[in-house]
Amino acid sequence: MTTPVILVSAGRQNNYTPRREVQTITAGCDIDYLAAVQRSGSVPLMLPFLASSEGIAAALSVADGLLLSGGGDILSLTYGEEPHVTSKLQDPTRDAMELEATRLALEMGMPVLGICRGLQLLNVACKGTLIQDIPTQVPGAVKHYADGLDVVLLHTMDIESDSLLAKVMETTTMAVNSWHHQAVKAVGNGLRISARARDGVVEAIEAADGRPLLAVQCHPEECAATYPQFQRVFDWLATEARSYQSRKRR
Ligand code: MN
Repeated sequence: MTTPVILVSAGRQNNYTPRREVQTITAGCDIDYLAAVQRSGSVPLMLPFLASSEGIAAALSVADGLLLSGGGDILSLTYGEEPHVTSKLQDPTRDAMELEATRLALEMGMPVLGICRGLQLLNVACKGTLIQDIPTQVPGAVKHYADGLDVVLLHTMDIESDSLLAKVMETTTMAVNSWHHQAVKAVGNGLRISARARDGVVEAIEAADGRPLLAVQCHPEECAATYPQFQRVFDWLATEARSYQSRKRR
């Protein structure tokens, strides 16, 4: 058995010098995603937003799992809604790349882990829709956008006891970090809700039929080094990637 290869979707970032005089644009993702995948015994490969359809298929053919990473808001027209005034950091090229990669991964039966924007992406890829701005659209919402320093476990997440997430986390209640202003509205086809915050906001989704799909709205990659329980979602992906690898070989 060889080391599982996990494709990690990457976005882009504008960079300025300390004097803000020269701008460069880099492709990438937060290094914590790569560290968490590495800790799970897999090897992370970044899939940049520039990939063509053929390129995406070629990359998936050498991979054993797909990790949809965090980032800006998905273009709302993708799921048939006009944009809310607070929508930000749209990147239609990244949207298209990740939607195509997710569609293909689902078709191939490849395990998928979605994190934050990645959860929203998985939902939209399955024809679901999104709440575009929790503070103005969810009455009585708790705080979902941390502005504290360091890792902050901000709010409670209640997990459905019969869910895959409960099995992975070995609990039905835990505190999570939170850094999002959007969330699942209508759940996509073939998906189910597996956790909510106390205000009802969806915090996790997974496959309704046992396929290896798991997505969380919190940022386990950020917590995993400090709170080892969060590493479990990456270990789950590694285990599923190994079993996908042996299915592929047969
Ligand atoms: Mn939250």
